[in-house]
Amino acid sequence: MCVIRHRLAAMATVESVTGPIDAAGLGATLIHEHLRTWDDAVHMQWPHAGTVREDPPHAVPPGGDYDEAVKAARAALELGIKTIADPTAMFLGRDVAFQRRVAEETGLQVIPCTGIYTYDYLPTFLASRSADQIADLYVHDIEVGIQDTEIKAAFIKCAADEPGVNENIEKLHRAAARASVRTGAPIMAHSRPASDTAPRQIEIFMEEGVEPGRIQIAHTGDTADLDQIERILDAGVMIGLDRYGLEMYLPYEQRQATTLALLERGYAERIFLSADSCATIDWFPPETITQLLESGMAIDWSIRIVPERVLPDLRAAGMTEEQERTVMVDNPVRWLTA
Ligand SMILES: [Zn+2]
Repeated sequence: MCVIRHRLAAMATVESVTGPIDAAGLGATLIHEHLRTWDDAVHMQWPHAGTVREDPPHAVPPGGDYDEAVKAARAALELGIKTIADPTAMFLGRDVAFQRRVAEETGLQVIPCTGIYTYDYLPTFLASRSADQIADLYVHDIEVGIQDTEIKAAFIKCAADEPGVNENIEKLHRAAARASVRTGAPIMAHSRPASDTAPRQIEIFMEEGVEPGRIQIAHTGDTADLDQIERILDAGVMIGLDRYGLEMYLPYEQRQATTLALLERGYAERIFLSADSCATIDWFPPETITQLLESGMAIDWSIRIVPERVLPDLRAAGMTEEQERTVMVDNPVRWLTA
């Protein structure tokens, strides 16, 4: 069985921003990190605004978002990471040419996505189109290429948050599911444990015929409620323990306790560890970001935290080499290739 699985993995490829790569070459993978996050529309209209930050230690000179992304990529590589999945979808400033420049300059393998990141709002173009018509857009990215390039999407992103799975969000989940069924691409669904969005998200995917192993419920690790997490795992899906450093949602120690408990209960094959870091982000004014960091709402929130802090702490607490390999290397391959 193991031999068969290894042969399949050896034959499979995964789309990256520098072209398809052998799945066996993914190596240690962070499943949820952003090389740059900005608002598509605001950036298009006021390109002078946004990622400019003057306050150290987050000094990003105008246009310095590229340097910050390169710095993040190099930090990950130095800490033994070979690949990141970058779920920067529509409304987060997806730009595969930018991702490709970073990947080419640094050698970090970057796995791009298709999809729409919204909790509610849709522009009229999308509000007036059906789930199938939106799925067509995703399939184009997966089979033809993204943004007039030959770079193909390897997974599909969608989101549900505080407003819940309302009409627009349900349509986007069905679009993601239909594109997944048509192409085999897996789905990463942003969830909000505090609103218990995951059960309905999973229900929609299942109704549309998506295999549970193709579904990743991101941000499941924002709760320490193991019963809630196990109810999600019971559906057979993968989960993201993927916001290490974002203390405002859940403190580090509680995240680690959850991860260790899940490893102990035999869920190594179902979890991902990541930080949901953004090398730069334009969501907040610079002074707000400085405040966030100074107030302790985010601590060590960067692409470094999993390889530099989380993994060593888990090893010290008893995570085996085999479990680490399963979580960091095998799970990304299985989710991305199945
Ligand atoms: Zn994210």
